[in-house]
Amino acid sequence: MKDLLTTDFKPAPYWWDAAPLTASPDGAPSPSYDVVIVGSGYTGLRAALTLARAGRGVAVFDKEMPGFGASRRNAGFLGRTLKHAYVDLKAARGTAYARAIYRDLSLAYESTLAFIAEEGIDCHAVRCGRLIAATSAAHYAGLERELEGMRADLGLPYAMLPRDRLREEMASDIYDGGAVIPDLASLHPGLYHRGLMSRALEAGVSIFGACEVTAVERSLQGDGFLVTTAAGQTRARDVVIATNGYTPKTLRWHARRVIPFTGYMAATEELPPELLEKQLPHRRTVIDSNLDIDFFRPAPDSSRLLFGGATANGLEDPEAIAALLHGRLRRALPDLADVRLSHVWTGQCAGTFDMMPHIGRHDGVWYGMGYNYAGVPMGSFFGLTIAQKILGLPDGATAFETAPFPTMPFYRGDPWFLKLAMRWFAWKDARLARSRPAG
Ligand SMILES: Cc1cc2nc3c(=O)[nH]c(=O)nc-3n(C[C@H](O)[C@H](O)[C@H](O)COP(=O)(O)OP(=O)(O)OC[C@H]3O[C@@H](n4cnc5c(N)ncnc54)[C@H](O)[C@@H]3O)c2cc1C
Repeated sequence: MKDLLTTDFKPAPYWWDAAPLTASPDGAPSPSYDVVIVGSGYTGLRAALTLARAGRGVAVFDKEMPGFGASRRNAGFLGRTLKHAYVDLKAARGTAYARAIYRDLSLAYESTLAFIAEEGIDCHAVRCGRLIAATSAAHYAGLERELEGMRADLGLPYAMLPRDRLREEMASDIYDGGAVIPDLASLHPGLYHRGLMSRALEAGVSIFGACEVTAVERSLQGDGFLVTTAAGQTRARDVVIATNGYTPKTLRWHARRVIPFTGYMAATEELPPELLEKQLPHRRTVIDSNLDIDFFRPAPDSSRLLFGGATANGLEDPEAIAALLHGRLRRALPDLADVRLSHVWTGQCAGTFDMMPHIGRHDGVWYGMGYNYAGVPMGSFFGLTIAQKILGLPDGATAFETAPFPTMPFYRGDPWFLKLAMRWFAWKDARLARSRPAG
């Protein structure tokens, strides 16, 4: 086992090497703010920045150090899709709804890249393209159907890559071809978060780390909310819940609606540049076509490969996680069978019962959460949108607010069914992999 790990191995996100977490300045919260935000990830900080620049007094509270959540832990893939493929959404909910949702997904994607460029946030944001590797011939056919539907209705580009050409994109023989989406992007999530945080601080946002919010109640005077934090109470006209996969049970209504699950990632040691280039010659991001995805990308700032998968497997011990992920790496990219891992880490994501992200207001409190692994663009977009709503701007309307935020009877935020769900995903993936392509 030890041979799998480098001597300087860290059970921490690779991204924290370049963007370490920093404590926020000490100090007690003011007696009142215009807006209090719970959670210091992309959602919370993008809302905070927009509000502060519009002249509002804003405080952000995080239970941990600012940026402790998934926003400095994710893979940095920037896309414009959901767990629900466009063609399936169209079949289930009609063309107008599917188009509106996918229009806002594109808006989330483009506006996040535009924001990074306008702000000059140096986070290696690049339209590198994405390879979706098909795990069976049936998956390949399904992928083509899905992408052709999006091209025909939405004008989104793609190119199919049959099995005998896959090595043009990836040094792997286990996939049945794939598809390239040429304009999807990637970034360094730690540097993106750090840039966002420094812009928020410069705009006058007060950020309190290690300061859990334990209660949000309507003020007795009826003019807003009383917020109880580890550092005392404060008042706010508006409150935003931006806790996604870290949503605590004390926020009962929200905790009943998100399904927290753990995502797993690893970084290899520095590879000879030519070996890395051979694995992913076009430096694209890669996901496979399974429900339970494996994903790969080159590090944007070193010659390492970063990868993840085995979502919600339940492991907590870093060495056990390393062994599991290394197995996935060896299987997909056999040239890397002998490389060691320098970092292994986890992070909390949020699924939802309808597999859609949700934004809205409950009992007067704003929320944006349930990103189902798409929170880099969607968290940024919902943060902006919530701020626009608080400011009463017309831009703050989105198709995502039209659906109710579902829960299940007796669900209180403990996803006891997660292992079963993942096994069901794996079974479906395996069954599809064995099936013959339709038509
Ligand atoms: C391993 C992994 C890979 C991923 N890859 C991708 C990807 O490639 N692309 C993509 O789009 N998405 C990806 N995601 C998902 C994405 O990272 C998240 O959806 C996104 O970061 C959510 O941002 P957020 O601001 O809503 O929440 P977070 O960044 O998770 O922040 C929530 C914060 O709330 C705080 N908090 C919780 N309770 C309280 C409380 N009571 N008081 C105060 N603070 C509290 C937490 O401490 C935490 O810091 C990935 C996630 C993981 C874990």
